[in-house]
Amino acid sequence: MPDPSKGCVVVTGASRGIGAAIATALSAKGFRVACLSRSGTLPETGAALQARMFPLACDITAPESIRAAFRALSEVCSEPIVGLVNNAGLHLQGKSASFPVSDYERVMTTNATSVLAVSQVAYPLLATTGDALIVNIGSFFDKLGVKGNVAYCASKAAVGAITRCLAVEWAADGIQVLNVAPGYVETDLNREEMTQGPLHAFLQKRIPTGGPGTADDVAQLVATLFLLPGRFLTGETLYIDGGQGMAL
Ligand code: NDP
Repeated sequence: MPDPSKGCVVVTGASRGIGAAIATALSAKGFRVACLSRSGTLPETGAALQARMFPLACDITAPESIRAAFRALSEVCSEPIVGLVNNAGLHLQGKSASFPVSDYERVMTTNATSVLAVSQVAYPLLATTGDALIVNIGSFFDKLGVKGNVAYCASKAAVGAITRCLAVEWAADGIQVLNVAPGYVETDLNREEMTQGPLHAFLQKRIPTGGPGTADDVAQLVATLFLLPGRFLTGETLYIDGGQGMAL
């Protein structure tokens, strides 16, 4: 279990949505938090929590941008890097028969390839501590066939597979790797779809716990994983979806 008072966790996509909630929850637990996003802005939260955060501009689809962000981090942060949360992602929809392959590649690069690319840059730093955790943010769509979501489903299935491979390869370096797979959570990614129209009513009925989750629901799980003693739990996908993925 990484020691919060002695470590920094890197969170991608931390400017808003689920990533902002994760950065805030980790800061509240005592970690320093490097907040990566293209805009390089800090989550909107209290000044005391922001004081423990470093904003860094980074495009996770561009290898040189990832390396530059980690170089910049080493200049501003003296604490060891004890964790990484690969959260940044994007959601593009369209019917499989006509979904542009270029859009498919964009989703795969942003949601899946970046998980490997950022983890590779973080790996030597995490391995140095010998007690580190990577949490990837997948989706419960990873085990479903959702109409209009061929790229997103494929990308999140890949996140589960990358999680298992890194967990097995990096366990000997003291690095745990987990995949947290949320169900519906209202954020910028899907707000329009979720607050209006048929999906809103459908979700109230279909989610056993009574409706979509919040970014904080996911953030509290991720922050708790950082405080869990032991390393035996690794490579797993933890679904946090109000039971929707297992309900008929
Ligand atoms: P948002 O759209 O609200 O936030 C996305 C975040 O990622 C922003 O901080 C954005 O910042 C950043 N980002 C996007 N592209 C890049 C990039 N190329 N490089 C760096 N940062 C980037 O999304 P959510 O918070 O909803 O989603 C977060 C994760 O959770 C995603 O992986 C998503 O797939 C997953 N998820 C979301 C669910 C939901 O219902 N919301 C359900 C299941 C999973 P900026 O624009 O400044 O770069």
